[in-house]
Amino acid sequence: MPDLFHRSSSSSKDDGHGRPAKVDSVVVIGLGRFGRSLALELMAAETEVLGIDADAAIIQELSSQLTHAVRADSTSEETMRQLAVHEFDRAVVAIGTNIEASLLTASLLKNLGITNIWAKAISEAHGRILKQLGVPHVVYPEHDMGRRVAHLVKGRMLDFIQFEPDYAMVKTEPPALLLGMPLSQSGVRRAHGVTVVGVKRPDGPFTHATGETVLEPGDMVILSGRPRDVERFSELR
Ligand code: ATP
Repeated sequence: MPDLFHRSSSSSKDDGHGRPAKVDSVVVIGLGRFGRSLALELMAAETEVLGIDADAAIIQELSSQLTHAVRADSTSEETMRQLAVHEFDRAVVAIGTNIEASLLTASLLKNLGITNIWAKAISEAHGRILKQLGVPHVVYPEHDMGRRVAHLVKGRMLDFIQFEPDYAMVKTEPPALLLGMPLSQSGVRRAHGVTVVGVKRPDGPFTHATGETVLEPGDMVILSGRPRDVERFSELR
């Protein structure tokens, strides 16, 4: 069995020089559009990735970009054991359209003892069954992105992230009523239920907003609050 990584998943181990070395690794199964971008983002964040896909062309394409890319059928327990998938503590099932393969893979990962499983669902029923199988983290990328884009299309928001049903953050241009005075004097939290948490000057990076921050035309802000409130507020000019 090949030792694909410095086999300790995300635990610490000796790096050979007496120092502990953190080895951070994730297995990503299914390297379609979603799995591929997830795997590459993990690599960019210095996480080692074992990518698995049944498609030889995909594996060939990604072999130089992932720590390891292996062509394999993720529904085969024997193959997964040969790849030492059971030694990982984090796995992502990024198979969507092929629901049968998604469910069989998720179930196999559970049987292999992996506790930290993330799986993509393409429908509410798919997600429900993944949950019933004991997958702790089920994500709905298409559904969530659709909702997010709807908020962007509807208003003047440049970005919208909803963390909980009653809490969201948006990136937007500040309306006129926020300009030219310290934020503490604007009364915006009381009047509109939103908080300015970050500000970006033209050509500058985002910084934390404080009560003393004075916004000017051309600035960009990050607002937090209830989704309806931040949405309404970002429509003001
Ligand atoms: P996308 O992320 O592109 O939207 P999708 O939701 O349409 O993908 P699928 O096409 O079903 O999902 O699967 C994604 C990837 O998973 C494909 O590259 C496919 O080859 C791979 N895949 C599907 N079944 C298996 C399997 N049993 N073993 C390994 N890889 C698989």
